[in-house]
Parts: sequence; C-alpha cells; structure tokens
Amino acid sequence: MKKRWSHYFSNIIAGFLLLIAIGLITGEPGWVLAIGLSGYLTWTIIHAIRLHRWLYDSETCDQPPLAKGLWGDLFDGIYRLQRTHTNAQDKLQLLINRIQESTNALKDCVIMTDNLGRMEWWNVSTARLLGFRPATDRGQPIFNLLRLPDFKYYFDSKNYSQPLEIASPLHPHIRLSIHITLFGEDERLIIAQDITRLYHLEQMRKDFVSNVSHEMRTPLTVISGYLETLEDNIDTLPPKWHRAIKTMSQQSDRMEALITDLLLLAKVESSEKRSLQSHVDTPLLLNLICRDAIALSGEKAQSITINLECEDHLLGDEQQLRSAFSNLVFNAVKYTPPHGKITLRLWSDMSGLHFSVKDNGIGFDPVHIPRLTERFYRVDPSRNSAEGGTGLGLAIVKHVLRNHDAELAIKSLPGLGSEFICHFPHYRKVAVH
Ligand code: ADP
Repeated sequence: MKKRWSHYFSNIIAGFLLLIAIGLITGEPGWVLAIGLSGYLTWTIIHAIRLHRWLYDSETCDQPPLAKGLWGDLFDGIYRLQRTHTNAQDKLQLLINRIQESTNALKDCVIMTDNLGRMEWWNVSTARLLGFRPATDRGQPIFNLLRLPDFKYYFDSKNYSQPLEIASPLHPHIRLSIHITLFGEDERLIIAQDITRLYHLEQMRKDFVSNVSHEMRTPLTVISGYLETLEDNIDTLPPKWHRAIKTMSQQSDRMEALITDLLLLAKVESSEKRSLQSHVDTPLLLNLICRDAIALSGEKAQSITINLECEDHLLGDEQQLRSAFSNLVFNAVKYTPPHGKITLRLWSDMSGLHFSVKDNGIGFDPVHIPRLTERFYRVDPSRNSAEGGTGLGLAIVKHVLRNHDAELAIKSLPGLGSEFICHFPHYRKVAVH
C-alpha cells in the first residue's frame, strides 16, 4: 500500500537515531554510523540496479521486482504509470485502426499530405483510382504522381472554394472531383470523388444545348434574312402585315441574342482555367465598355461615370471578362430609368482587384439574390421580356468569375438601386506601375 513520504522520512530519522544510540552504547558511534550508512547505501544501489534491469532488460509489461518500503512503492508506481500509458496507447491504436478501416471502406480517395505536399497516408481507393503504391510512393511530393498542371495550379492557389475536375491519370475515362482542405500548418486533406456518371450527364446536357443552338442558328439566319427583306420593302405590302412583320423581326432578334448567349455560356462553361492566363488591360477594357454603355443609354441620357482608382491588369481571358463586365454594365443601363446614375469603379487592395457597377435604378428585393445567377431566373418576368434580356447574362457572369477564381457580391433594394461587385483574388492581379 502507498505510504506518505513523511512515513519514510521518519523511518530514516528513526534508523539514524538508532545507529547513534547503538554507537553510544558500544562506545564506537563513528564506526556504527559508518557501517549503518554503508548498509543503507548498498541496499539502495542494489534496488537501483534492479530498477534499471527491470526498465531496460525486460519486457515493459513484466511484473516489477518484489521490494519493500520506499523501493517497493517506487516499483509499483512506475508499473502503474506504464500500464496506464500502454492502455491509452492501445485505445488510440484501436481508434486509428477504426478510422483507417472506415476510410478504406470509402469509395472516395482520401490522401493526407504534409506542408510540402509530400504524401503521408492514403486509403485503398486512392491506390485503385490513382495508382499510388505504399511501398514506393510514401513521402513523395503528390505532383510527382499527379502530373497535371491544373492540379498543381489548384494545389498551390490555396483557394479551394470550388472543387477541381480532372481525369484519373491511371484510367483516363474516370473523372474525379478534387476537394482540398487545409489543416494544421499548411497540411492538406485531399478527397477525390469519382464523378464519371455525373460528368457524362453534364457533358450530354452541354452538348445538347450547344448542338441545338448551332442547329437553330442556320434556319434563324434564313428567317431573319427574309424578314429584313420584307422590312426593307414594307411599303409594297398591305398595311395589315406591317405590325406582324415588325413583331416577327423583334422576336427573331431576341432568339438570335438567346442563341448567342447560349453558345457563349457553353463556351465559358467548358473553358479550362489554366488557359485563362493572358494579361488583360482592365482600365482600357472598362473604358471601352463605358463608352458602349453611353451609346446604349442613348435617349435615356443616364449619367454614366467611371472611377479607375488603379491601373492594375488582370490575369485571365479578355473575351470572357469583356462579356461579364459588359453584362453587368448593360444591365445597369437596362434597369435604371432615364437620367439615372450609374458608376463603374475599379480598385485594388491587399486581397486583390475589385470592380463594381452601381446604379440608382429599379433595384429588387434581396430575397432574389441567391437565385439571381441561375439561368433564366428573372425578378419580374413580364418586365424583363419587355427589356429584351435573355435571362442568361448573370449566369455568364457567374461562370466567367468562377473561371477566374473570383466572386460576385450583389446588393440591392427595391426602388433604390443595385450594386454588383466582382472580387478577384490577389494572384489574378498584375500590378502596373
Ligand atoms: P436579363 O437578360 O433578363 O437581364 P440577367 O441574367 O442579366 O438576365 O439578369 C437576371 C435578372 O436580374 C434580371 O432579369 C433582372 O430582374 C435582375 N437584374 C440584373 N441586373 C439588375 C440591375 N442592375 N438592376 C435591377 N435588376 C437587375
């Protein structure tokens, strides 16, 4: 049983006093004391050697040597600590085994990398889908095995708000969606999901939309051509046809705009992020768009101003950025009454480059914001048909921004106006001095 240290202390004092008493009785206190202390020292050394042997020469789970008093307590204490430690280790190992078993049962690939991208652990599905082998690949940088520029770019960007889609290097017909989560000190948890079925469905949808759009373009061009000829010779036709021809001509223009937007959306959706790396002169582009907006505003005579607070360029695709920015600016012209105010602003800060379009037009209830960038979503369908919009403008903006790792923020209040802000990350910004 464990005793208090004061018990052992009083035993030592008692022993010491006994030695002095014997020394005084025998008349040789010095010798008695020396013999007594030597005996105690020998006892201590013997037990220290036994402790050392037990700790280093035997299995840790072996029972401790038998001993009495202070040394017995010490042996028991160390033995108890060892058992507690071993139990905790066993429990932890059991937990790790269960986590590994359950992760191995997953159909998705799970990979853990250190702060330099070296692979520390992966599950069975990773070996199946990506071909990683534990014997040779552990500790290797993941880019040595997944040699895809898109993946390297995504991995280094540290912007994992959107997943990355790649083809499996081992089975090119398998499509994988990669999600990365940062944890600890720049360590990463990579999860790759097999999305082959979904990818094919999505591909079929995109192909269908772009094929239909292409197929419709030819007959529509013929119809528009005849309508134009009829409009040119309208005086030779009976008056009852005049309205019909004008309406047909307007509707064919709308259909043409719709097809153009559908094809543009299909193109933007399927463009590779990596290829969007040209230097785009943002201030120049915005000046041109502002000029077009003034022309579009025409009789509405809105006040359209542009504030360029920086000269920075963007890394991206000029055509796509032109479509996105002009959609936002032309929407402001469309949804702002005559003599309204529209302001374009470009500015830069530590987080990146930002572009906003602000108007004091009709605005809309903020409840629409989450759905506004969906295809064909309209706040007020009747009003929008009159404006001649295709309902695809903001969907194009969303996809262009996604391709440029940017985000769209929308603010609006009915009757007070709206503001659309594009936030581009710092690595898409090219400073111009
Ligand atoms: P549309 O071709 O109909 O303009 P968009 O996708 O460009 O389609 O816009 C979707 C809807 O968002 C519009 O129908 C309109 O209701 C609303 N909207 C967009 N921009 C503005 C704006 N600046 N002010 C008010 N409403 C807007």
